[in-house]
Amino acid sequence: MKVLITGGAGFVGSHLSERLLDDGHEVAVLDNLSTGSIANVDRLKGRDGFTYVIDSVTNEALLAELIDRNDVVFHLAAAVGVKLIVEQPVHTIETNVHGTEVVLRTANKKKKLVVIASTSEVYGKSTAVPFREDADLTLGPSIKHRWAYACSKLIDEFLALAYWKERKLPVIVVRLFNTVGPRQTGQYGMVLPTFVRQALAGQPITVFGDGTQSRSFTYVGDVVEGLVRLLAEPRAVGEVFNIGNTGEVSIAELARKVKAMTGSSSEIQFIPYDQAYEAGFEDMPRRVPDITKIRNFVGYEPSLALDEIITRVIDHMRTS
Ligand code: UDP
Repeated sequence: MKVLITGGAGFVGSHLSERLLDDGHEVAVLDNLSTGSIANVDRLKGRDGFTYVIDSVTNEALLAELIDRNDVVFHLAAAVGVKLIVEQPVHTIETNVHGTEVVLRTANKKKKLVVIASTSEVYGKSTAVPFREDADLTLGPSIKHRWAYACSKLIDEFLALAYWKERKLPVIVVRLFNTVGPRQTGQYGMVLPTFVRQALAGQPITVFGDGTQSRSFTYVGDVVEGLVRLLAEPRAVGEVFNIGNTGEVSIAELARKVKAMTGSSSEIQFIPYDQAYEAGFEDMPRRVPDITKIRNFVGYEPSLALDEIITRVIDHMRTS
């Protein structure tokens, strides 16, 4: 199969590219390197069936040509990272909404399957954990920029499902939950690589808020496994799936684990949200996926628990 991956030089995209090549597929990456990195695809450059173009998905002529040449599209190109989103709300909304619009419109001309990467952010402040795909979503007000990300991704979901309903464009929507693993950068605010980098450097480990907020971290290899399985499942078309790991950890506990597992002497420092992000910043207290649906459809089961994931991230950062 020939697979186009937008955002393929990003953290998840580069792992997906590698896995698809390993499985014998051809992979074309389109990435503008806004948050992706050429280093992520360096290791893939010499491989049979791998090509890449450094450009934006909004280059419509190029996108049309790439979609023509490929059988399916994974649309992973997006503005990511809460820090970036809070600092650049215009860029976030435009990138996420317009990029997806162009991808879906272009793919529709040839009815090529599009997998749209959405996010657990869309569940917002809901406290109805674990989150099911058909649950109500609870977002904050539009004056708080954090929610622009969730809203922009929700529009992507609505548009994808509308293309399926109205124009019979095959689409699959996936909501990814805090994906972590080797090669993820803390540069855009993501917590695990940030904590590991801080611990290894002997700098304070910065816990935002009181640290009681929790997340469920998923190993990138498990996310990729879920994506690959969904691609091969015709019943997945027109559906929305959580991809995650149900193990939950508070951010304060995560900081303690990273400190212990790195043997670091770093202090754990608590920083109020308004200093970490902006005044009035709202975080979500808990975020846990219900993975019953993807389990039932394709037998997805996360393989790596948190301690093993942290170990791999530490090993990777120590050696790179
Ligand atoms: N966080 C933190 N310290 C950091 C970065 C993030 O305490 O240096 C917190 C953040 O406030 C959130 C959680 O860790 O509660 C996860 O943040 P991340 O940006 O990785 O993902 P999110 O779940 O917010 O999309």
